[in-house]
This record gives sequence, C-alpha cells and structure tokens, in this order.
Amino acid sequence: MRFDPLALGRHTARRVTRGQARRYYRFRPARFYGGTATADCLGCNLRCVFCWAWQQVHHAPRWGHFYEPEAVAARLTAIARERRFSQVRVSGNEPTLAMPHLLEVLGRLPGDLAFILETNGIVLGAEKTWAAELAAFPQVFVRVSLKGCTPEEFARLTGARPEAFFLPLKALEHLLAAGVDCHAAVMVSFSPPEARAALRRRLAEIHPALADFEAEELILYPAVAARLARRGFDYVSAWLPSGEPVPPP
Ligand code: SF4
Repeated sequence: MRFDPLALGRHTARRVTRGQARRYYRFRPARFYGGTATADCLGCNLRCVFCWAWQQVHHAPRWGHFYEPEAVAARLTAIARERRFSQVRVSGNEPTLAMPHLLEVLGRLPGDLAFILETNGIVLGAEKTWAAELAAFPQVFVRVSLKGCTPEEFARLTGARPEAFFLPLKALEHLLAAGVDCHAAVMVSFSPPEARAALRRRLAEIHPALADFEAEELILYPAVAARLARRGFDYVSAWLPSGEPVPPP
C-alpha cells in the first residue's frame, strides 16, 4: 500500500512545527558546494530506502529542538561569517514541509549569502504559489532531487504513490515559470540506462538545460547497505562513504 506524500507531509509538518518555529537537529559548516553553512531540519514527506537520515526522518518529533526563523538565520549567518562561506542551506530532511517558516528564514538572511534549497520537489510541485514566493529572493537556488527515473522506481524507492513522481517535474516547471534559478538532480543508482535516457528526454521537454541533470548516486553507509540488503534492493551503481566506487552485488 503506497502512501500519499502530501498527506504524510501535512501530518509530519504538524509534529515538527510550532507556530513559526521548526525542529532542527544540527547546525554545521559543511564541505558541499565548496563550503556551506547548513541547518539540518526535521520531518520529511518521503521514506527513501537509501536515505542517510533515516532515523531523523522516521522519528522526527523525537529529535532536536524548535527554532524560530530568526534564530535559524542568525546561526546560519554566524557559521558562514566565521568560515568565510558565501552560501547557506537548509538540509537534513525536507525544508519545504514548513514553507512559511522557510520563507521567513530567507527574509532574515543577509542578501549577500546565496541560499541553496535542496528539496524533493513534492510540495513545490503541488502548490504553484510557493515558486512565486521564492522568486522574491534572488539569492535562492533550488536543487530539485528526483528519486528515480520512472513512476515505478519512485514508488519502490520512496514508498509513495507512483503518480507523485510527477510532482518534482511540476516543481521544476513552476520554478522556471517564476524565474527561480534551479536544476534537477536524479538518484540514478537504481535505474537502467534506458530509464535514465527516458527521464532525460522528459526533462528536456520542460527545458533543454534540464536534460543535463546532476546524477545523484547511492552512498553505501553501513546502515543504508544493511537496509537495502534486508529489503532485497539491487542497485546498478554505488559509492562507499570513503569516495570509492563499488561494484553492484
Ligand atoms: S526525501 Fe531526502 S530526507 Fe526525505 S526520505 Fe528521501 S532522502 Fe531522506
């Protein structure tokens, strides 16, 4: 039985927000994108089998603390200034689960810091007006991460209904129409070449530049490897946490 990610997202949002505050479990400098101040939020609307933040996704209300938008922006800014980073992001789980909170964080960040929004695109695909709201912040860049290359892969990997596969594609459409900088990343480690090629064609129909998507690869953290083995998941490509490629099992 597949779940509705929008319903799960609404349910989860109620448990990880309190007024304008949202639960976070970590604030940290991260090496990604050449150095990024990172706030790791709690709560997600998918259940990806390859998720490295599995514990936080599944037990979100038990982790971390509530932070008002002002406090999140202040912590991100302090890390960025101390490390001389020019970029900040909210990561960890799904940042768009609490859009009013996220927009207020954006409004409180200094304009000279680029903001990278990493999202699975479910919320932004379902509600067009969020793209227009994000367009008010020219420092925002959105990385929409697709989980698999087909509706069937998406459903198997995330546990969600296959038709929700199309929401991240809609999100890209909405963002481009609103003039928000964005690109697509795709988890390709479970996809045969023909599925990757079909998705590439589909993305090119939205915008030719999207065909050149970022290939996201499975990282075999011990807990992820054990989960995949337990559930009988095969993959076509993967990397060790040390950065070395591993052959498929
Ligand atoms: S969307 Fe991201 S945070 Fe949510 S379950 Fe999937 S990998 Fe984990």
